[in-house]
Amino acid sequence: MAKPKYDLIMLKLGGEALAGPEGTGISAPRAFDIAKRVKEIREMDVQVGIVIGAGNLWRGKEGLEMGMDQATADYMGMLGTVMNALALMDALEKAGVETRVQSAIEMRAVAEPYIRRRAIRHLEKGRVVIFGGGTGNPYFSTDTAAALRATEIGADILIKATKVDGVYDSDPNANHGAKKYDRLTYLDVLQQRLAVMDSTAVSLCMENKLPILVLNLWDEQALTKAIMGEEVGTLVSN
Ligand code: UDP
Repeated sequence: MAKPKYDLIMLKLGGEALAGPEGTGISAPRAFDIAKRVKEIREMDVQVGIVIGAGNLWRGKEGLEMGMDQATADYMGMLGTVMNALALMDALEKAGVETRVQSAIEMRAVAEPYIRRRAIRHLEKGRVVIFGGGTGNPYFSTDTAAALRATEIGADILIKATKVDGVYDSDPNANHGAKKYDRLTYLDVLQQRLAVMDSTAVSLCMENKLPILVLNLWDEQALTKAIMGEEVGTLVSN
C-alpha cells in the first residue's frame, strides 16, 4: 500500500467549521463530519495535531467594536477556542479516535496544560491532540497558534482547512473569473497580502520552513489526497 507523504500534520480549522447553518454556535453534525475526516487520516497512520479557532463564538475584534479592551476581548476568544476544542474532542472520541485537549491557558478541570513534550508523547501513541487557548496571548490569532504549535511539535506541514479549495487572486464567490493559485511562496503571500493567514503566522512558517497547504475541508477527498501527496489546494512554501 502507498505510504502517506506526511508522518505528522497540524490541522488548522476555523471556528466556523463547527458552526450550524447561521455560521454561529456549535453544530453536532458538523463536529461529527470533522471527526470523520480526522478519523480517516488517523487510519492512514498519520499523527494529527489540531488547532481550532473561535470565530463561531467570539472574535476579539467584536469586543473591540463594543468598546472593550482588546486584551480582555482576546482572552474571551481564547476561552472560546477551548469550548470548540472540547466539542471536537467529544465528537472524535465518539467516533473512536483517542483525543487529548491541551490548553495554553491553564484550566486543569477541563484540559491538560500545554506541555510540549507531553503533546509529542500523546501524538506518538496515536492520540489526536487538540491545542486549545490559542497561543495563550492576546493580540495573536489561532493561525499563529497553529504555526507555533506545528513548529514546536515538528509537524511536516500545516494544513489550513477552509471552505474554499485554495487561495485565489480575488474572492471566488464574488468574482467568477477569480484565479486559483496552485503554488505560492511565503513572500508572494506577504507582499500581495493574500488571504491565507495573517502575516505573523505566515512569517513564522517562513522562518521555520513549515509548508502551508490551504484546502477545502468539505471536499470529501481533499484531505486524504493531500496526505497521499496528490496536488490539491494551494501550497505555500519557499
Ligand atoms: N486569540 C488571541 N490569541 C491567540 C489566539 C486567539 O487573542 O493566540 C483570540 C482573538 O481575539 C481571536 C479569537 O481568539 O479573534 C478567536 O480566534 P481566531 O479569530 O483566530 O478564530 P478563527 O478565525 O480561526 O475561527
